[in-house]
Amino acid sequence: MVEQKNALSILQRLIQIQSINQNEAAVADYIADLFHPYAAAQVTRVEYSPGRTNLIITITGTAPGKILGFSGHMDVVAPGNPQAWQYPPFSGQITPDRVYGRGATDMKGGLAAAICVLLDLLAAGTPFKGQIRLFATVGEETGEYGAAQLTKQGFADDLDALIIGEPSQLKVEYTHRGVIDYTVMAQGKGAHSARPELGVNAIEKLLQFYPRMAALMATKTEVDPVLGPLLHNVTLISGGDQINSIPARAMLSGNLRTIPAYPIKDLMQEMTALVTELNKNEDTALKISFHYPESPLPGNPKAPFVQLVQKIAAQTLQHKVPLVADVGATEASEYIHAAKRFPIVIFGPGNDSSHQVDEYILIKDYLNAIRIYHQVMVQFLNAD
Ligand SMILES: [Zn+2]
Repeated sequence: MVEQKNALSILQRLIQIQSINQNEAAVADYIADLFHPYAAAQVTRVEYSPGRTNLIITITGTAPGKILGFSGHMDVVAPGNPQAWQYPPFSGQITPDRVYGRGATDMKGGLAAAICVLLDLLAAGTPFKGQIRLFATVGEETGEYGAAQLTKQGFADDLDALIIGEPSQLKVEYTHRGVIDYTVMAQGKGAHSARPELGVNAIEKLLQFYPRMAALMATKTEVDPVLGPLLHNVTLISGGDQINSIPARAMLSGNLRTIPAYPIKDLMQEMTALVTELNKNEDTALKISFHYPESPLPGNPKAPFVQLVQKIAAQTLQHKVPLVADVGATEASEYIHAAKRFPIVIFGPGNDSSHQVDEYILIKDYLNAIRIYHQVMVQFLNAD
């Protein structure tokens, strides 16, 4: 196995490269350099925009076989107030049992673990069949642009299984909800509130939307046995300029957490149809828009790949490893649009310190993830 010291220094260096919602190209360059000594590693860069580059590392075994993908995002969220951190957020400080820094858990830890496994397979010349394809992606935190781009360009079409290395506390996640964020804008006409007949009240127009939307959502009564019901919440509202003026503009945003029973395309169509219908009223001008909708991941806990990851994790950790749902959405929302269906498991080291001050990863979890990824890759590819 890649020496512990080496594994820690790779993670530390990844944390030190600041990639707050951009600058992933610098991370990609560092990773590409690690693979430079190995002719057998094929390095592909897929630019998203200047300074933002996805990286694909492909290593091919000695005989034809299955293709296993691994995806990890290179971007991190902002650190907040750096003074509030115990150690500077981009120091990658190593203590006897932890590595600190923005991205330690979410998810440079999981990404570094997969990198270590690939380097190890190359250095040791470990024989395996088929191919491993590592996707290091951009823009996960703000809309999964990288995974979407790679899927659209066909890089996931021939996969036989995929691990997404997001922090799962080393539990096996096999399903999650989708997400639809939407905004409804109402356009009216401003006027003095003493002469309302000269204006059109945008707030009143907007408020026609909410009860109809609530009624539409109330028809979605199916309950997923693992994920639960579809959820809808209005989360932002604003409108008007001052108290004695008829408001010319108003807007409302909401968030849906969807389940596989309700495809996001159908939901968006129904919401658009609702707005079209309301706009049939004279002088109602509502506009609906959607921001990076994410599909749910329908999962099967009995899928052989899910079972394999669970078995290897339990053997390595020497305790029971549960199969669970992820509470949020992941890049799986994009990869499931590849040409072929394949099982996806979300599994990675890390804890609930993601997006917080003093984000950290336990060294023990990080090293266990390396062991588990190694076994999953070799056993999945070498099985018949
Ligand atoms: Zn993440």
